[in-house]
Amino acid sequence: MSYMFISHDISTVRAICDDVMVLYAGQCVEAGQRDVLAAPPHHPYTGLLVDSVPALRPGWLDSRRALTGTALPSMGPASESTELCGFRGRCHVRIDGKCNVTPPSARQLPSGAVILCHRSAAELERAQKTEPVTA
Ligand code: SF4
Repeated sequence: MSYMFISHDISTVRAICDDVMVLYAGQCVEAGQRDVLAAPPHHPYTGLLVDSVPALRPGWLDSRRALTGTALPSMGPASESTELCGFRGRCHVRIDGKCNVTPPSARQLPSGAVILCHRSAAELERAQKTEPVTA
């Protein structure tokens, strides 16, 4: 027997699901086994969902505010392609001249997850690794 469980609550997804598919605006942006949610790198939208799970440590909320408060990189007009990344309007690591011009192709991360993104695993990991704020 199989179940399909749909949620924004990544902690529950991590607890009960074997396989995970992350959708943004109807597009599958990341797919893999449950363990892919354990540590970066993730697709930038998955990273946002993973980051929204509260951590029981001092300073966690303030560290989230620091991340979400940064301005988005500027980006020029989009090309005519209907397959551009749907997350580019909210993405903190978007690339002008690429994300607004060329549709991303599927790439595999070291975790085994397949993502749709122009950024490399190393770039995503750098952007998503945040040091715990010490009290
Ligand atoms: S393709 Fe570009 S806009 Fe889309 S998630 Fe990756 S970096 Fe962000």
